[in-house]
Amino acid sequence: MFDLERITRENIKGLVPYSSARDEFSGEAKVFLDANENSLGSPLPKWYNRYPDPHQLKVKEAISTIKGIASEHIFLGNGSDECIDLLFRCFCEPKIDNVVICPPTYGMYGVSANINNVEVRKAPLTEDFQLDLTHLENLVDAQTRIVWICSPNNPTGNCFNRTDIEAVLNNFNGIVVIDEAYINFARQKSFIQDLADYPNLVVMQTFSKAWGLAALRLGMAFASVSIIDVLNKVKPPYNINQVSQELALRALEEVGQVNDMIREIVDMRNALSEVFERIPTVEKVYPSDANFILVKIKEARMVYDFLLTKGIVVRDRSNVRLCEDCLRITVGTEKENTMLIDAIGDWLSGKQLEDLTVV
Ligand SMILES: *Cc1c(COP(=O)(O)O)cnc(C)c1O
Repeated sequence: MFDLERITRENIKGLVPYSSARDEFSGEAKVFLDANENSLGSPLPKWYNRYPDPHQLKVKEAISTIKGIASEHIFLGNGSDECIDLLFRCFCEPKIDNVVICPPTYGMYGVSANINNVEVRKAPLTEDFQLDLTHLENLVDAQTRIVWICSPNNPTGNCFNRTDIEAVLNNFNGIVVIDEAYINFARQKSFIQDLADYPNLVVMQTFSKAWGLAALRLGMAFASVSIIDVLNKVKPPYNINQVSQELALRALEEVGQVNDMIREIVDMRNALSEVFERIPTVEKVYPSDANFILVKIKEARMVYDFLLTKGIVVRDRSNVRLCEDCLRITVGTEKENTMLIDAIGDWLSGKQLEDLTVV
């Protein structure tokens, strides 16, 4: 059985959270002399002299409507990266507790664990990039607090089998984080609607990918009210700045436009995959449920360097276990994708010339 009390760190359970001026008074007033702001204003128009809403209520309401989940189940972080760090700080006792990750996967889980001095146990994915449930289960012990699952996974691009994820949710009595940063590009449906069934589930999403707002630094975590309450207690009071809140609200009014972009990116991803499959030195294009493709290509590192000389930067994953000889390529604009394909063409014709001179 999942018991949030059991896995919450003692110091966090006993924590008296910082109470901001905006917390102590949040009613209607005309004169605000409670937060040591600059009452004269600022060089900028608007109310940037004032501290932002520490609870981001308006943004959460807008997200709530779109996702069909009540605001109390929503936490906002300064990027998903802040959510990741907070989960470690709330639930993992340094040097005592451990977490399980499933590499190759997003690097921040491991880095954040190291920063927090929490042991990382690794259950690598199978050859077909799925969860290795037996290995995972063997790694879990009484001190395991979080299992990190990234689906669709970065850098492999695929979703994990839903039944496998459900098995972890049902059998592990710590927190299961499902990082759905790329879910909008996937055929699988989000786990957000399953929160009621799993008290140990945390779903993470972000404004950085499909929403096109990586610069705002806005990540979302969806979970039970009691988990969200713990995160709220520990977060810095004003972790989401006023400008990000305002811009997020404006963006949230444009779901239609975002959905159009998602469809366009998915179409281009599929087209790009087909082109790469026809390139003779490409050994495999992995199926993608994200806005990037993972390509196994001969002499990956040299291709990477060659692309750089053409001003094109992709992600070299060739030294990552299970991703040997792989490049991770983000879907670009139509023009950028064409430039990429042309550059690969140049690389191939250069190769043929080289071969000729060797002969
Ligand atoms: C890009 C990405 C994120 C987003 O992180 P932010 O801090 O919200 O920008 C989260 N998880 C994964 C797996 C990613 O690839």
